[in-house]
Amino acid sequence: MELTKEAKAYFKSKGDAEGLEKLIGIWEALINLKERVSDLHDENADLRKRLEREDSMHLHEALQWRMKDGQYEGPFCPACWGKDRADVAMSLDAYADCESRYFCPACKMNFHVGQAPVS
Ligand SMILES: [Zn+2]
Repeated sequence: MELTKEAKAYFKSKGDAEGLEKLIGIWEALINLKERVSDLHDENADLRKRLEREDSMHLHEALQWRMKDGQYEGPFCPACWGKDRADVAMSLDAYADCESRYFCPACKMNFHVGQAPVS
């Protein structure tokens, strides 16, 4: 910024309107680049987060499980995950005739499964 001020003062003192105009153009281009780099940084952070989320999900015995801090958590609905990448936690179906029947509150599907994967 200090350099820009000095350059502006120099062009003004020399009465070089064209040089001053070019300097302003370069300065505006730098501001645009700075904004673009910031946008790309944010986009990259978002993509990394999405990739991490994608990599953390694992299909096991027909259900989605998320690996977090070395432990599996879940299960999550495989239909909702497959369709919208929505991680909808499934709940045990209280009315099922067995202990391992899970129900998705979003898409209303039932899944019969075994145990969580071993970490
Ligand atoms: Zn679902």
